[in-house]
Amino acid sequence: MKRLLLIGTCSLYTLDLFAQKLNYTVSFPNAIHHEAHISLEVADFSQQELIARMSRSSPGRYATHEYGKNVYDVKAFNKAGKLLNLNRLDGDVYQAVGLSGYVRFEYTLFANHPDGTYAGIDVTSIMLNAPATFMWVKELEKAPIQVQFNLPQGKNWKIATQLKRESKDHSYSAPHLQYLMDSPVKIGDLKVKEWTIANKDQKKYNISFALEADGSDSLVTSFAQKIERITQESQQVFGELPAFDYGQYVFIASINPYVKGDGMEHRNSTVIANPTAFTGSDNFLNVFAHEFFHAWNVERIRPQSLEPFNYEKSNMSSELWFAEGFTQYYGSLILKRAGYNTFAHFCRTVSALINTKENSAGAKRISPVQASQQAVFVDAGVSVDKANYINRYSSYYTYGAAVALALDLELRARRSSLDAYMTAVWEKFGKSEKPYVIADLLNVLAELTGDRTFATDFFKNYIYGFESFSYKNLLQNAGLTLQKEFPGKAWIGDYPYEVGESLKLRSSTRFDTPLYQGGVDIDDSIVSIEGRSVKSADDLDKILNDYKPGDQLTINYIHRGESKLGVLILAENPAWTVIPNEDLGIPVTEAMKQFRASWVDSKLK
Ligand SMILES: [Zn+2]
Repeated sequence: MKRLLLIGTCSLYTLDLFAQKLNYTVSFPNAIHHEAHISLEVADFSQQELIARMSRSSPGRYATHEYGKNVYDVKAFNKAGKLLNLNRLDGDVYQAVGLSGYVRFEYTLFANHPDGTYAGIDVTSIMLNAPATFMWVKELEKAPIQVQFNLPQGKNWKIATQLKRESKDHSYSAPHLQYLMDSPVKIGDLKVKEWTIANKDQKKYNISFALEADGSDSLVTSFAQKIERITQESQQVFGELPAFDYGQYVFIASINPYVKGDGMEHRNSTVIANPTAFTGSDNFLNVFAHEFFHAWNVERIRPQSLEPFNYEKSNMSSELWFAEGFTQYYGSLILKRAGYNTFAHFCRTVSALINTKENSAGAKRISPVQASQQAVFVDAGVSVDKANYINRYSSYYTYGAAVALALDLELRARRSSLDAYMTAVWEKFGKSEKPYVIADLLNVLAELTGDRTFATDFFKNYIYGFESFSYKNLLQNAGLTLQKEFPGKAWIGDYPYEVGESLKLRSSTRFDTPLYQGGVDIDDSIVSIEGRSVKSADDLDKILNDYKPGDQLTINYIHRGESKLGVLILAENPAWTVIPNEDLGIPVTEAMKQFRASWVDSKLK
């Protein structure tokens, strides 16, 4: 496996340690109050001091998270069970001293946030994201690991995880720390459905769907069949499945009101959590398609910036527009191909992506590379102060997906496709798990198209730059028309307001809107426009309906208690919409039909 390959340069010192095993034991004596008791036993080492630490980052979650805050009562013992001295070197770093070949760290973990990023322990079920759960020893990161789960008595619980099962008594193993940290564990009353997919290499892979939800067996079965179809449709993009470790992949899903919403990819599993009642609705399938696509794109087609993963700080990556954005695009596309999305719905997704690229303030001023680099702050990152993301950021998910859309249409116009590009990247980097850098992606595009100038310009203009795409021309090949959604409609920007005696702005304003240019900002209250009072969004709409883009209006607003006057120069509502030609009475040629079919129809025979 990829991460084992990294061991290459072992010194005698690490070889000595590599022979060691780490043994974790995880028990839940106080699950009702969300606590676990965890021990980490290390034996046969030469150091007299050893440091155990909690992670500050988690694979697939790109900002810093202080998992150390939920660990307490940290202790260290010698083999005879005698308490050892323990120095707390940092909030999440503990050093045991006076050691002679053995130490057992013990600690309590508090966990009440069940999702793919954190952990949640309760008498009803247990969710453990590994970096949120396991303290670890840096010097021993290559050593093989055993984990023993002591399940609460009297429950017929199952465990779903990509860890290798060693015995029926809930003992699991990981080849090294990187694999353990990538392996979430779900424990509970799980409904499990399994199927196999035959692969090009003649191997059969076992795919399972482990669901924590209320729902009849038939509902769960039919939902699992939809996921199965998605896995098959995804396989068609690359022509083969990844070689899943231990021959298995598991969808760990919690669809119930007691979890927090999340979707998190791993090498051979994913955690999908949705805090709603399980109805078998197709609405959730998008996340399944997205996360499964990650088994190729990011888990194996892996940017060098995430490899090896650093658990002591967030890992900045300049490639998330590709790793996440292209995956986002395929989540929607595969759903359409698998038949769980209509063409009309797909067109709305395409409209939304185009609006992200052409109309989000961030995408007008930063490149997809820069958007990716911001992930260390924005990806579920928590802060108490305000940031200027509305003007200086655009999500690498949707921004990246908008780039994928443009590239797919461009390649299809050149008698190729994004499927062919993804497959070429897979063949060159994913299959052999050779980490890539952006220049590699450019080179593959140049080779695929036989047009280095095109590839170089594409990356210069749209990956390192933030130029507009010619979506209008590109979409016509598919018989789709891009047009203004509200032509001629006067507009001052789309904002959330607090309604009262005036209209209070709940968001910062965007640099490219009349309200920003008129001097109005967050927490200001719009009192009147052209002397007409504004108490609701409806009032505002009525006033704007009486004017046209280019008109200059006087605005009266309150800023920090002071009444102010400003000038609004009205703009045209910039929203774009994509409409099938047939809906506009424009002919759809045979070539357009073929283009569309090859783009969005099923690849399954
Ligand atoms: Zn993702």
